[in-house]
Amino acid sequence: MPLERHKLMQYLNDYLKPQTFSDYTCNGLQVEGKAHIQTLVTGVTASQALIDAAIEQQADAILVHHGYFWKNEPDALVGMKHRRIKALIQNDINLLAYHLPLDAHAEVGNNVQLGHKLGLQAIEVSSAAKQALLWTGKTAQPLTTTEFAALIERKLDRAPLTIVAGDKAIETVAWCTGGAQDYIDLAAELGVDAFISGEASERTYHSAIEQGVHYFGAGHHATERYGVQALGAHLQKKFNLNWLHIDIDNPI
Ligand SMILES: [Zn+2]
Repeated sequence: MPLERHKLMQYLNDYLKPQTFSDYTCNGLQVEGKAHIQTLVTGVTASQALIDAAIEQQADAILVHHGYFWKNEPDALVGMKHRRIKALIQNDINLLAYHLPLDAHAEVGNNVQLGHKLGLQAIEVSSAAKQALLWTGKTAQPLTTTEFAALIERKLDRAPLTIVAGDKAIETVAWCTGGAQDYIDLAAELGVDAFISGEASERTYHSAIEQGVHYFGAGHHATERYGVQALGAHLQKKFNLNWLHIDIDNPI
């Protein structure tokens, strides 16, 4: 029996609690498709390539971390935005998107999942940032910056941008996935040895050096691949869906 879409939406609403976040986009059902869902495709970003792959898989729904309708983007459905939404509607595919709720969630969130992926210990959310977006943990043993960079490269399949801030070993780490480079200052206040985010800015270098926090830019896409997969696996088990994660690689 395919799952009724409204039951899935109700469950996600209870599980991810999107109404408790102040976000830059609307979380939940962004484009309505068929009323029943049997095949679910997950991906990081609702790009044309992901939509095309989902159509090929005859997906009933696509679930992503980066959907549409961001604050400050033009409202009109023209060009790239029109092509994407037209493809979804023509193929009757639901688009579900969860941004901050999927960064912050304690079980399937990008942050907790990244901590597990890197094998960090004593993983917990820090109260230093709002909306459960800064997380901390410890390495199993003290690591040099070279060793820690190699760990990230091994686990995420991508060499991080590394800024070495002094010669202290890494035992305590703070992180926030995605475009969260400016949390480095909160991480410095926490007194951790290293900070990881997805993206970096020019100023990130100076923040790292002047505050003595090693910095690792591990990729926006690469750090946010794991939450939506954990959620897909959770939904597959819960509702017996056909679930497939499609990774459209992105070097940024
Ligand atoms: Zn993101």
